[in-house]
Amino acid sequence: MSSSDVATATDTMPDYAPVPATALGPALNEQGYHVGRVERNLYWVTDGVYQAAFLTTHDGVVLLDAPPTIGHNLQRAIDEIAAADGVSNKVTHIIYSHHHADHVGASFLFDKNAVRIGSEETRRLLLRDNDPARPANEETFQDRRTLEIGGERIELAWHGASHAPDMTFIHFPEHDTLMMVDIVNSGWVPVYVSNLTQDIPGYLEAPAHALTYPWKHLVSGHLGRLGTREDVILHQQYMSDIVENVKTALATTDPTPYFMKYGANAWAGVKGYLDAVTNNAAKPVIDKYTGVLAAADVFTPSTTFWVMESVRLDNGVGSQVHP
Ligand SMILES: [Zn+2]
Repeated sequence: MSSSDVATATDTMPDYAPVPATALGPALNEQGYHVGRVERNLYWVTDGVYQAAFLTTHDGVVLLDAPPTIGHNLQRAIDEIAAADGVSNKVTHIIYSHHHADHVGASFLFDKNAVRIGSEETRRLLLRDNDPARPANEETFQDRRTLEIGGERIELAWHGASHAPDMTFIHFPEHDTLMMVDIVNSGWVPVYVSNLTQDIPGYLEAPAHALTYPWKHLVSGHLGRLGTREDVILHQQYMSDIVENVKTALATTDPTPYFMKYGANAWAGVKGYLDAVTNNAAKPVIDKYTGVLAAADVFTPSTTFWVMESVRLDNGVGSQVHP
């Protein structure tokens, strides 16, 4: 591309509302990561878009997720902390939040004999995917499991399908921390179609499960800062505003003009109508959350579309029975 092509491309890109300062986290170091203490010997690492965590113990390091975008910086972050604290830098355990490659695709960088732990469903999906970057977890659990590693307690739980079928909630009761990945993006709205969610009813329930645990710090798996309980509550309000506006838009948007215009092209009529419902539902949500949650104007229409489909298909709202 010449510089004039770049200028033309940039000219046609939409402008968006500024990112609120509250959405941003600490600056990254020269290698492109930030590592910080959550509480005591629990640490978090971010590259500004993805997050992982690790626990240093006298028996070795427990790594929570291994996003490939952080990649080799995971071990660099661990080395930095282990040297400062005078503890082992060897990763002996890896816990998977779920099977997705963007969160655990750097697992292969670590010792093949490290104990990998996740839900039974995570193991099943990893065996299905057969990706050498993501060795399947040998250690599993069905609904709940408490781990004691190097004198530290970690509680794992599956609360049903949500973003993916196999989401594990990881609670650190002695560190006042919950790791719940791909549900809430602290300070930001979800990305495309509700954080690329497979089960919207489960996704809408997940924050309530999170709030049943006692904790102060949230490792959400994404973006540049830790979360708080207030972030989870704000996300809940945002999603419930989308649901309410979808119900209103389904009740008040008239499909007739779209089907009259497109006639035999049934899919064009469907698209015209459902896009109109989506836009009518998204607009008040964008207006309310711009300046509150980053990228409300970027991704709210996509998430609203996906919630609208769940409200129609899972909840049966807006179904019209032929007379
Ligand atoms: Zn995911």
